[in-house]
Amino acid sequence: MGKTSRDKRDIYYRLAKENKWRARSAFKLMQIDDEFGILKDVTRAVDLCAAPGSWSQVLAKRLFVEGSDAKVVAIDLQPMAPIPGVIQLQGDITSVDTANQVIEHFSGEKSDIVICDGAPDVTGIHSLDEFMQAELILAAFNITSHVLKTKGTFLAKIFRSRNSSLLYAQMKKYFKKVYLAKPRSSRQSSCEAFILCLDYSPPEGFVPTMSKSSLELTDASGVTADVIDGFVTCGDLSGWDSEKSYPLDIDVSFQKGIVDEDQKNRYEFKDVVQPPTDPAYKEALEMKKKGVFSKVSADLTKELKAERKRGR
Ligand code: SAM
Repeated sequence: MGKTSRDKRDIYYRLAKENKWRARSAFKLMQIDDEFGILKDVTRAVDLCAAPGSWSQVLAKRLFVEGSDAKVVAIDLQPMAPIPGVIQLQGDITSVDTANQVIEHFSGEKSDIVICDGAPDVTGIHSLDEFMQAELILAAFNITSHVLKTKGTFLAKIFRSRNSSLLYAQMKKYFKKVYLAKPRSSRQSSCEAFILCLDYSPPEGFVPTMSKSSLELTDASGVTADVIDGFVTCGDLSGWDSEKSYPLDIDVSFQKGIVDEDQKNRYEFKDVVQPPTDPAYKEALEMKKKGVFSKVSADLTKELKAERKRGR
């Protein structure tokens, strides 16, 4: 991605770098907390799918205040650069081992809040991506049911789809209040939203499990969106617009009067706050440098040509 791609011109992306947040998602959690006060009086918090760590940074900033003995556990499949005070577990949220480790870190106590900004690797095949995201939410709920205290809070990223109402209805069985939050920093054009579940109160006799899902997200018929307690947009409406991005060529835009001096000066390229520690694409980049892909593609083209000739 070049310095001028859409993402890098994005207002919140740039604000995140200027304010030393590892990802623009930090603003989403802050805006939700500003609206709902979900981090008030929290002493134990779990951040699922935490890397590169901007949500954990927010937890650290808002919970590690003077006199507090708050504990934060951050979990991700990927390694994550350290954040002072945050306990990091490199692990899978679908594993019961991970749930047990969390409780160990809290000396047998359960968490006040579990947050999850998880996302599977996107394939570009919409239905598959939607399915994978739904599976991740199920996994997030399963681990939450192991580690969350009664009356606790669960916040998870979702992508609104035709089955969303069913998810809200299922969550309503376990939490007294269920909201859908759309922070101002989440692009309006994206179907991303956050399901905020307050006051965990599982039904009598409910036994948490990791081996099968406690939620059933297969049949949305007959379920309507009014099962949620509210759809809330969070964040100062006079603040930054998430759809706004810096123009492609800032110098030309300045000359043409499209941006003012202040905007032009703001567009100073800054390095990312925390580059990925061990990204999956590292090996692919090395292979690309060595020309492995062009060789494979040349071989494939040759084979295809030969195949076509044989077919003629
Ligand atoms: N909240 C993070 C932040 O603010 O920096 C960004 C999270 S990123 C969008 C999604 C993360 O989900 C990735 O780091 C990915 O490794 C993680 N993830 C996906 N599936 C997971 C799983 N089964 N267990 C743990 N982490 C997972």
